[in-house]
Amino acid sequence: MPKVLDGKFIRDQILAELRPRVERVRAAAGRPPGLAVVLVGNDPASEIYVRNKVKTCEELGIFSEKITPAATSTTEEILALVAALSERDEIDGILVQSPLPRQIDERRILLAIPPAKDVDGFHPFSVGQLVSNSPGPRACTPSGVMEMLRRYEIPVSGKKAVVIGRSDIVGKPMALLLLHANATVTICHSRTSNLDVECRQADILVAALGRPGFVRGNFVKTGAVVVDVGINRLASRAEAEALFGGHEAKLAEFDRKGSLVVGDVHPLEMDHASAVTPVPGGVGPLTIAMLMSNTVALAELRLQ
Ligand code: NDP
Repeated sequence: MPKVLDGKFIRDQILAELRPRVERVRAAAGRPPGLAVVLVGNDPASEIYVRNKVKTCEELGIFSEKITPAATSTTEEILALVAALSERDEIDGILVQSPLPRQIDERRILLAIPPAKDVDGFHPFSVGQLVSNSPGPRACTPSGVMEMLRRYEIPVSGKKAVVIGRSDIVGKPMALLLLHANATVTICHSRTSNLDVECRQADILVAALGRPGFVRGNFVKTGAVVVDVGINRLASRAEAEALFGGHEAKLAEFDRKGSLVVGDVHPLEMDHASAVTPVPGGVGPLTIAMLMSNTVALAELRLQ
């Protein structure tokens, strides 16, 4: 059976290491590190993510400010808000939760966040720093995956890594971080031919495509490490049956909860992998931990 890589355990390690750094910032600056989270509108999933981010700030003693402009806000209004936050000394990181309502120009908002407060690492300047392997905030989910691999002492250098997904927030930065750790990296996407064949080459397979249970057992080489970034909610029994037909325990879990959260990897077909991340409880908890880490690092940099 594969080793299960426990994201909550790694998250707790990361947060414990951040605590003294938070206190050092507080002592040196006379205030804790500060994170502003802008949540435009009422997307239910975003509300949960933001609540968890604010709660983790509180647990760590990081100052957080949640700003909730109406769903009808204009690009200009959000730009003005970001400009005001950029000026405020006690705010070290600015996060604008996506997705934004359709009328808002997400690119303009992203460009308005000063790179010194770009806690998500999505600003083109931060992306350039990542490409050239220079210091700067890194996208939280991929850097969480790297922390997971590092802390479980999973070798990356010289290994063949395959990343499924090429989004700006997960797939591309993931591939670059693996490349900088000296993996030989293949990036796959929706137009990749023979995806299963590509994936079977992987010593480390990262699935970030947003398709529940898409990565089946035959995508995975024996002994591979499988990192499942996907978070998908199965809301109907038909979906659950399509994925878990014949697995009574999973269907009973669906019946009990009324829905199931699954990753992009089929959780019941990974017996031949050497290690897997569970969903939930794998990569998810690390994303928030790395957001906290980026906030503290930006505060430390602004102190220097
Ligand atoms: P996007 O939808 O932005 O990107 C998905 C990527 O997967 C695209 O590059 C797409 O290819 C590729 N893809 C889609 N379908 C297929 C397919 N059938 N075969 C091969 N490639 C495919 O998603 P994100 O990157 O934002 O997120 C990916 C997953 O990770 C989602 O489940 C999301 O919920 C989860 N996530 C989890 C986080 C966490 O904290 N654990 C944080 C962020 C995301 P193409 O470019 O060709 O369209």
